[in-house]
Amino acid sequence: MIRHSFKPLENENSMRTELIDNMVDTALKGESISYEQALQLESLTREELDYLFIGTDHIRDRFKGKDVKICSIVNAKSGRCVEDCSFCAQSSSFQTDSPEYELMDVEEIVAAAKEAEAFGANEFSIVASGTYLDDRKELDRVIEAIKRIKAETQLETCCSLGLMPLEHLKELKEAGLDRCHHNLETAKSHFDKIVSTHTYEDEVNAVQNAKEAGLKVCVGGIFGMGESFAQRAELAFSIRDLGTQSFPINFLKPVEGTGLEHLEPMPHYEALRTIALLRLVLPDIDLFVCGGREEVLADQQEQLFSAGANGILGGNYLTTKGQDPKRDIEMIENLGLNPVYTSI
Ligand code: SF4
Repeated sequence: MIRHSFKPLENENSMRTELIDNMVDTALKGESISYEQALQLESLTREELDYLFIGTDHIRDRFKGKDVKICSIVNAKSGRCVEDCSFCAQSSSFQTDSPEYELMDVEEIVAAAKEAEAFGANEFSIVASGTYLDDRKELDRVIEAIKRIKAETQLETCCSLGLMPLEHLKELKEAGLDRCHHNLETAKSHFDKIVSTHTYEDEVNAVQNAKEAGLKVCVGGIFGMGESFAQRAELAFSIRDLGTQSFPINFLKPVEGTGLEHLEPMPHYEALRTIALLRLVLPDIDLFVCGGREEVLADQQEQLFSAGANGILGGNYLTTKGQDPKRDIEMIENLGLNPVYTSI
């Protein structure tokens, strides 16, 4: 039992400390808590959550140390997507103010990569809207950009290009691509409430294709889309079973005009509870807090690290602007942690 070394809290006797200690001790050994244990997290009081966060902070520190990864991406193609993901401002099903532009040319993508490297990045991620890059000319452009980035920089490369077929992923791997990012969006049992133009199985296949092509994978989802806590746990265990090196955690920022515009952002402590759930299910992977960070955690963003995350998406988010990168660095350094640039 490692818990005795943590700071004792007031009212500890009335809290379910044994339940929490058991979960933290399991995760500290690098093992996932059980699904039944995960469900019990939903009923923890705020005081019990504060006690849990001492443990999840310790798990983060055990497996990730003092480094905080800051992910950087370029949105190389935006808008006009034929899919109807109800959270997404880039879907052509909705009227939004999201920018629309075709895929950047090779020079623009390479220039963005070099700029990211000069800023301290060690990985660079190319993100494009759409079901997948079905236009051969677009695919060739990304392949050429990856070859140039590998030849002209020291950067590792990552792509988020949708439901890519296996043969295209193999071509990207051949060109030098290191990692593929693909969100499952939400739990299988909630998926048809969020997307109707493709299936949950299509999402899982995309991840499996990337793995079969020999790529590292980064797989996450979006929380706060009307799913239950049990469905959050369901998604966490599905992604654990798929096998991923990193998990981007997004919190819904309801955008006017989208299918989920009527929802409220997730309450702050529910967001922290969700991060802690993921750290306890996936103790040793990289957990990034990405979209919705400012809206949900507001001026208490530093708490995401004690809840268990070890990374953030910095700067410019896909369709919404993020916090000033200087404020992120300050926040991380004030916690005695080290910012490290990367991509997801
Ligand atoms: S999430 Fe991706 S696939 Fe879905 S509408 Fe947005 S850009 Fe299209």
